[in-house]
Order: sequence, then structure tokens, then C-alpha cells
Amino acid sequence: MPALTNLESMMSIAHNLGFPRIGAQRELKKAVEAYWKGELDEAGLRNIGQGLRKQNWLLQQQAGLNFIPVGDFSYYDQMLNTTALLGAAPSRFGFTDGALTLAEYFTLARGDKNNFALEMTKWFDTNYHYLVPEFLHTTQFKLGSEWLFEEVAEAQALGIKAKPVLIGPLTYLYLGKEKQGGKEKQADLNRLHLLPKLIPVYQQILARLKTQGVEWVQIDEPALVLDLPQAWVDTLASTYAALSQDSPKILLATYFNSVEEHAEILKALPVAGLHIDLVRAPQQAECFLRHFPEDKILSAGIVDGRNIWRCNLAAALQTLQTLRATLGDRLWIAPSCSLLHVPVDLAQETKLDQTIENRMLKSWLAFAIQKLAEVATLTQGVTLGKEAIAPQLAQANAALESRVYSPKVHNQAVRQRAAAVTPLAEQRQSPFVERIVTQQARLKLPAFPTTTIGSFPQTADIRTARADYKHGRMSTAQYHTKMRAEIEQVVRQQEALGLDVLVHGEAERNDMVEYFGEQLQGFAFTEHGWVQSYGSRCVKPPIIYGDVSRPHPMTVEWAQYAQSITDKPMKGMLTGPITILQWSFVRNDIPRAETALQIALAIRDEVHDLERAGIAIIQIDEAAMREGLPLKKIDWPFYLAWSVRAFKVCSAGVNNATQIHTHMCYSEFNDILPAIAAMDADVITIETSRSDMELLDAFHAFHYPNDIGPGVYDIHSPRVPSTEEMLRLIHKALAVIPAQRLWINPDCGLKTRGWPEVKTALQNMVAVARELRSSAVV
Ligand code: GLN
Ligand code: ZN
Repeated sequence: MPALTNLESMMSIAHNLGFPRIGAQRELKKAVEAYWKGELDEAGLRNIGQGLRKQNWLLQQQAGLNFIPVGDFSYYDQMLNTTALLGAAPSRFGFTDGALTLAEYFTLARGDKNNFALEMTKWFDTNYHYLVPEFLHTTQFKLGSEWLFEEVAEAQALGIKAKPVLIGPLTYLYLGKEKQGGKEKQADLNRLHLLPKLIPVYQQILARLKTQGVEWVQIDEPALVLDLPQAWVDTLASTYAALSQDSPKILLATYFNSVEEHAEILKALPVAGLHIDLVRAPQQAECFLRHFPEDKILSAGIVDGRNIWRCNLAAALQTLQTLRATLGDRLWIAPSCSLLHVPVDLAQETKLDQTIENRMLKSWLAFAIQKLAEVATLTQGVTLGKEAIAPQLAQANAALESRVYSPKVHNQAVRQRAAAVTPLAEQRQSPFVERIVTQQARLKLPAFPTTTIGSFPQTADIRTARADYKHGRMSTAQYHTKMRAEIEQVVRQQEALGLDVLVHGEAERNDMVEYFGEQLQGFAFTEHGWVQSYGSRCVKPPIIYGDVSRPHPMTVEWAQYAQSITDKPMKGMLTGPITILQWSFVRNDIPRAETALQIALAIRDEVHDLERAGIAIIQIDEAAMREGLPLKKIDWPFYLAWSVRAFKVCSAGVNNATQIHTHMCYSEFNDILPAIAAMDADVITIETSRSDMELLDAFHAFHYPNDIGPGVYDIHSPRVPSTEEMLRLIHKALAVIPAQRLWINPDCGLKTRGWPEVKTALQNMVAVARELRSSAVV
């Protein structure tokens, strides 16, 4: 790439919204965890943090960016940093006033023996989790931690043109929750009422940044892409009028979806610039261009910050040229959103260099560093003309073309099969009321059948065996013997506990998506493609690059073996199409719905094979069904239609006598219960214990027709629930679910738990079922 020399004389500005802080080698993860374990002191941790920031800034500077985000760094989470900055740590933690210490900061994130941690939830529709701000009527804000100002000074000292990044006041409040003592309260606090208390603190922050010599500050208001209540939208003008009084120039950034509906309000705000996401919502360019105010810049989020595909430079350039025709040098160029959501550096994937095929795959990809180069290239192209970036355009075109025509990507047979799926394939043979009779005759389960969600504790021993096998230190035969022994052990435990429907324990699975992805065609895996999930936790999502098919059975051998050693019914265990899709990087050349259908067909074949192997119960986990919901409600029906269809395609091909289960790890069903019912699983197991059977609300409103197992044992904690406790929960459930349709099970899989607690908890759980059976409820 030719170096960008004359940046100052170039007219369009290249910038970035945020950079992955975790480090290309997950340095920050390792350092933070070492600090938690007491193996690294605070100075050591801060040193590593500082080193990473410096490295990331210099890297962005070298890439040719004119403004570089500062304040996107965090030892845990950027929302938590905002809470620290705003002096808004909940009073229940009892921290003395003033800036948080690093230890206190981590206590907010992780809890301690006296306090439970702040709640964590997904950041918009990403797989990143943020720590939810906790508010009360009495919440006060004040200038808290000094970290942001220190980091700005640190960057400036290095000659970095720092553009501090803040989460905006509306987004901060909107994503928070009213809580009393850490527990959710009936919402009687309108969080918007806190805004007047919050604004003065933002004003102080902005004034401070201005005195530091900051020219531009980026204020992120992604909440604007949600269905924000009108009252919130109405505060935009006065809020930003107040913020802009004594402040660096404000770039108001929105991303992840369109803000078209607020375009006129946004254009009229007293801010110096707007950033919009033109990858997720390219159509919004038009309404922003119309009478775009002369005194503002428009930052075009043109390089996809959410996915790992190389940018189609020619197409992007064309869009930018149109924008520039109207905006001239008031056009800025950036990734669509922070690059937090993509891995750091494709150059690390040296294994992909080893075959021609993989080299080609690699040429289709771009991680954070490569994306910055794309932003710089596009900026050059739009400013100096296409010729200035001819080599990059040629390269990108060649890669794109090789992808478009690659037989690795396109599988005609898969396409044809997906196109030929008829409504018949989505339909069970008979309605639930008839099926359940047939199933009951076959399974002969007692009332209140007990089961678990699939995984049993993944001991160090199991993990070592898997790693040994993967790295060739263990032969296939040895590995199989080892896994069979594991299965046998888990089966005997369940028999001893008296569980009714058994599982094989999932010892062979490292991850419920990776396990299937590795065996399906159309999936690729990186070596270092880590993305922060929360705190120090990172995930390495598979890349779905091509049409998906199943070359061979994936789980049958294990399930069959497990069934062969017990008389109790064994549940086959699969991950559903939406969850596989949701936790992977997906194709951008075909709609998600199409890939979902392809995965569904692959799973359907697996379901058939399990059925043929004599497995009478098959569970298809859809842990991510709800989190896949689009950000705007208007887009929900379409998503629910194709995702429910995918589930039905994968599950409906079985005989009446085969019982289909599904599992979901949440209970906020209120809005989508009809869709969940439409999936028509014979049994659904869900998480409910933590929310004290919150699902009951939904069940009051909508009569869920099939069997249901509301989790009674919170597996997220090592605490062993007592029989009385679980009995109480079940009695609550019985108020809305008929006894003959109720199952007894934990909230989720037990893989992160230890055996001793699991045994006692399940013992208690089985005792609950026995107690219910012997009492008069049935
Ligand atoms: N079957 C999986 C397990 O038990 C389900 C995990 C999940 O829902 N997240 O581990
Ligand atoms: Zn779960």
C-alpha cells in the first residue's frame, strides 16, 4: 500500500471509531487474568495496558488515519468505564466517593463476597456483553475516574491526533436499568429523569477535553438506531445544545442500523459532525445528503466493522464519490462501527498460507488492521481519484471475483435442495396432541419427567484428552476409548441419580457451535481470530464462507453408544441453525435466511440419522434464537418467520414417536412466545430460576401448547439449590402450566460446574419430582 504522505493537504478525513483492545495475542486477557490471580500487580497490568494502547494508536496512525480513537481502551468494558467516568458506581457497593480504584472497578464487573456483580447483557445485536448501569431515583453523577483524560494526554504525548470516544448520555441511560440492591425493580423510575443530573457531568468532561487541546470528540449514541421512545428523541436537541456549549467539536456517532427516521433532527443538532452506518443501512445516505447542513461533516461508515469480509472497494468508492459530490471535503471515511467486533490481524493467520485454497480464502478476508488500510485506501481514492488506488482496487476485485466464482463457496446441490424445500418439510406428521400420545406410549416416562440440558462437568481431564487428540498426541482409537469411558461414567451417574431422560454429557465438544462447524462444509476456522465477548473472555467465531452441507454424521456414534449402555431413553444433542448462524461470522453475499436454511437441512439429516439409530428423543438447542432478534421491531416478523422455518425444517422430518426438544437460555419470551410455539418442539426447556419464573408473565398472556421444562436449578452459580426452593418454583409454574406438561430440569448445561455440587443439586431436583408425583397434583 502506498504510504499516505500528504495527509494534511488531502481533503477527506480518514478516521476510526474504536479498535479491539484485547491485543492480537490476547495480551490484555492474559494480563487481566494474571492480575486477578495475583500473579501480576496493578503496576504491571497498567504497564501492559499502556503498551497495548500505544501499539494500537501507532498502528492506526501508520495506517494513515487522521483521527485516532482514544477512550476505546478498557480493562473490562467500555460501558463500565463510562460508569466509572461518570462516578456512577451503585451505592450498594459502598465505595467511598471519588474515582474508583482498579480493584473497585473489577468488583463492579465481577462481584465479590458481599456484592454481586453488575448485570451483563448483549451490546445491541453483537456478541459483545456490556455491564448494565444500575440506577435509582437517588443516583448522582459526578466526575469520577480520570482514566480518559490520562489516556488522552498519553496519546498526545506520543504525537497521536486523539479523538476521545464517549458513550453518549442518552445511550448510557437507555441501556441502564432501575435496580434496588442489585435486583430489578418494577420500573417506576423514568430513566430519562436522570438526564438533567447527567448533562452537567458530560459538560465538565467535554470542557476538560477541550482544555487538553482536543479538537474532535466522538460521542456514540447507538441507542438512536433502536425504537427509542419519542420522549427520548425529543431530548436530543436540548441535550446536545447543552453539551456543545464548551466542548471540542462533537462527532455524534450512530451505528448498527439506520437512523433515517431521525435524520432531520440529527441534521439540525448543534454538533459538528454525524457518523452513520452505511454498511448496515446504506439507504440512509440519501436522506442525510438532502440539505446536509453546510457547517457539518458527515462520516460515512463504509467498511464493515461487524464482519470479516474484505471490502468491495470499487462499490464503496462509488458510494463515497456520490457523497463527495455533495459534501466535498466535509465527507469523512470510517469503518461502520468500532472494530471491537472483529479480530485484530489477518496477517497472523499463517496457516491459511499453506494451501492455494486457503490462500484464496484468506484473500477474501479483512480483520481490524486490514480494515484500517481499506479506510485509508478509500480516502485516497475518493480524494485523489480512482487511479491513485488502482493496485488496491485491482487486488480487491480479483479477490472478490475469485469468491464469486469459487466452487468452494457455491454448491449447486445444496442450493437446489434449499430451493426445493416445501412447506411439507416444515410439518410434523401429526399435531402435538396426537404425537405426545405416541411418544408417551414409547417412552413411558413418569409424571414430571426429569432431565438435564446436555453437558456435564467438563473436567480438566476431558479437556486435556480433547487437546491431546487435536494435536495428534492421542490416537483416534485412544480418544474414542477415553470418550466412551466418559459417557459411561456420566450415564451411570444419571442412572444412580434417578434421572428419567439421560444425556451423553457432551465431553467431546469444546463448544456447541464449533463442534458442528468443524464437521460441516462451508465453515472455516482461524487460529487467532479472537473477539472480545466480555471482560477477559474472548470467542473465536467460525467463518461461514460457503454453502453449508454435512458430509457425514456428526453425533450419531456418541449418541448410539450412550443409548446402547442404558435402558433409559437417551437424548440426542444438536445445536440449532439459528444458534450456529448467530455465533459465526456469516456470509455477506447471500441473506442470513438462506444460510440458516442450509444449516437446517444439514441438521435435518443428522436428526434423521439419530432417529434411524434408535434415538427416541432429540434436543436441538437454540440458545441464540432470541438474541438474533433485529434491533428494530419492524424487522422482527421477517426474522421470526425465517428462523422458525429453519427450526421446523431441521426438526420436523421425524416420526410422531420421536420426541423433539429444544432449549433456550433465557426467559424473556413475552414478545416472541407465539413464534416459539410455532417452532412446535414437543418439549422446550428454558432458563427461569434466576428470574424466579418470570416466564409466568408470558404464559398468562399466551397459552403455550406443548410440554415445557422451566429451569429450577440456576447452573450459573455453584450454589446448590434445596428441594424446598425448587419445589417452590415448580409450584409457581404449576399455576400456569398443566401438571401433565411440566418437566423438571436445570436452567442450562452443567459444563462449567463441578461434580460434587452437580450431584447434590440433581439429587435434590429428582427428589422434587418424586415429591410431586407422590402428592396429589397429578
Ligand atoms: N446442550 C448444551 C449444554 O448443555 C446447551 C448449552 C446452552 O444452551 N448454552 O451445554
Ligand atoms: Zn442454555
